[in-house]
Amino acid sequence: MNIANSVDELRAVVAGWRRAGETISFVPTMGNLHDGHITLLLKARELATRSVVSIFVNPIQFGRGEDYAKYPSTLESDKQKLQAAGLDLLFAPDLNELYPGGIEEDTRVTVPGLSSILCGQYRPGHFSGVATVVTKLLMNVQPDLALFGDKDYQQVMVIKQMVHDLLMPVKILGQPIVREADGLAMSSRNSYLNAAERALAPQIFQAMNRAREKTLLQNTSLIAIETAGMAELASAGFRPEYFSIRRAQDLSAPQVGDTTLQLLVAAWLGPARLIDNLRIELPEPLKIA
Ligand code: AMP
Repeated sequence: MNIANSVDELRAVVAGWRRAGETISFVPTMGNLHDGHITLLLKARELATRSVVSIFVNPIQFGRGEDYAKYPSTLESDKQKLQAAGLDLLFAPDLNELYPGGIEEDTRVTVPGLSSILCGQYRPGHFSGVATVVTKLLMNVQPDLALFGDKDYQQVMVIKQMVHDLLMPVKILGQPIVREADGLAMSSRNSYLNAAERALAPQIFQAMNRAREKTLLQNTSLIAIETAGMAELASAGFRPEYFSIRRAQDLSAPQVGDTTLQLLVAAWLGPARLIDNLRIELPEPLKIA
């Protein structure tokens, strides 16, 4: 496994591969790798002849008071996992390498609309921070395809919109959520939970499944299902931000006649902000919105 810590080293390896006619797949991460990340890498390896993973905790996607300073860093064990999974190149730059002019006056990429709803409403500036760093990474890795987890469903939509609008020559693929045996979506932030919180955490997945069942019955309004989901999580000890059923294709409000919906949830549990989502395919078009 090659390791590049600078943009110059990264470009040199990628240029060699391009001359040799290799295809390149890319998985951006913030490290503290778990099986969700490794599953993305294994898929990336299937789809191209060379694979690149980046590890970079991007300060500009964290809001003031969020967990940037304490975000878990486990670089040595991450390297071992990546090597074992057959990665070709790890790009692990430091802050100056990706933000040579500092982070305050840096050029930003913003995807309007999608960036201000759901997580964007509670984390202003977050998706602009993500779009900016992913642009820097895509321009330098120059992959044929980049893989993202559907765990961050809204993020995948923002990146797809950005790539479409800026005519970036890369294919963006969303990949299924990898879960723990009890249903909790794997996340680096799960490590913030104490034992009692960890035991509660799968209730997000359970509440989402109950909401999906109710939605499939088509005898309750979606608003009532969302309100019940919020109440369920709050009474279990979460501090839910949203429990929201949207159109899967653009996250707008569902309309009568829709068939493909996405339930998205964000909820705090102790010190951890957890997010999750679930596809709802209706066998019959939606009757009440
Ligand atoms: P992160 O390191 O949290 O920024 O995540 C890096 C990539 O891994 C993103 O595309 C995430 O959506 C993806 N990812 C994180 N957790 C999971 C999971 N449980 N299942 C699938 N993909 C995931």
